[in-house]
Amino acid sequence: MAGLVDASSLLTRGADWGDWRWQLRHAVTTVDGLSRALPLTERELAGARLAEKRGLPLRITPYYLSLVDPDDPACPVRRQCVPDAREDDEAPGDLVDPLGEVAHEVAPHLVQRYPDRVLLLATDRCAVYCRFCTRSRMVGAGDGAVSLEALAPALAWLRAHPEVRDVIVSGGDPLAMATDRLVRVVEAVRAIESVETIRLATRVPVTLPMRVTPELLRALRPYHPLWVMTHFNHPKEQTPEAAAACALLADSGFPVMNQTVLLAGINADERVLEALFRGLVRARVRPYYLLQADPVRGSAHLRTPLALGVELMAKLQGKLSGIALPKLICDTPGGRGKVPLAPDYVVARAAGKTTLRTFRGELIDYVDPPRGSD
Ligand code: SF4
Repeated sequence: MAGLVDASSLLTRGADWGDWRWQLRHAVTTVDGLSRALPLTERELAGARLAEKRGLPLRITPYYLSLVDPDDPACPVRRQCVPDAREDDEAPGDLVDPLGEVAHEVAPHLVQRYPDRVLLLATDRCAVYCRFCTRSRMVGAGDGAVSLEALAPALAWLRAHPEVRDVIVSGGDPLAMATDRLVRVVEAVRAIESVETIRLATRVPVTLPMRVTPELLRALRPYHPLWVMTHFNHPKEQTPEAAAACALLADSGFPVMNQTVLLAGINADERVLEALFRGLVRARVRPYYLLQADPVRGSAHLRTPLALGVELMAKLQGKLSGIALPKLICDTPGGRGKVPLAPDYVVARAAGKTTLRTFRGELIDYVDPPRGSD
């Protein structure tokens, strides 16, 4: 582990740098390792000590750490992965399990919040533990990849519920699992006839892009349609390595969708979001959702008011093409489902006529066809 090696060597790109297993083995997981890699502020040091004792653990791959600006505590990559003493604070509305996943568990490791899709939690490990994680209650807290035997009741439940067409394999991060274990899970889900799509929810293209290897994709390709749901939050994460991972996925037939979480001091800015979404489209990744951060306990310092997301979307509308503009979503606390939010473009409604405001601020009437015209 990082605490046992010279921290500066972690950021030296030796022959092993491109080996994802080396990256995972050398992930920084201790206060010592982190303070040797970065000059920590008092708040970060206290946060790292807290993370070592309880709550969401500390884990940062050397690759993701290399994107951190050591001289800037406000670095947007640093704020996502370096713990902060404020994680100990409680704010009104905070929840341990903001999406009510425990209450919506239909079988061990299987969560159902919508009629036609489910979430299969296949592991509790990730390459990097994000400080705002919705599942901070459980990531890094179990035994890693869940065995197929332990997933058997979830698979049996799926066989008994053919109305479920879409299975999101998540965790933790399923791509942090060994290839053979991941393939066994995907194979077992694909064997259920009623399952149409399988989605892999992963931050690996962002935090450990060298994990996306031709060997992994060859192993997964037989189980298409497989979609990849990834999670870029800032243009700093759009490195040549990340672009190569996205290109490999797209070339292998995996549609790649991105879910950005709106985060204070990280990306809650029109120019940052514009650069991020344009970069994603260039990488053949569809900006899919811009998510209002969930009220997960200890993350209030990273959350934004709901109105800010709507304001930012209004600024981006018309500036970015439809393929670069995600939907703004609030996943309602308690797990009651996602609600799309949007600026209000309807200025007035009258019988047969609606007045709309364009992105330039002009007011334009849309006149309905005469009744009975068909
Ligand atoms: S990779 Fe995903 S599951 Fe893992 S800590 Fe980050 S947000 Fe949470």
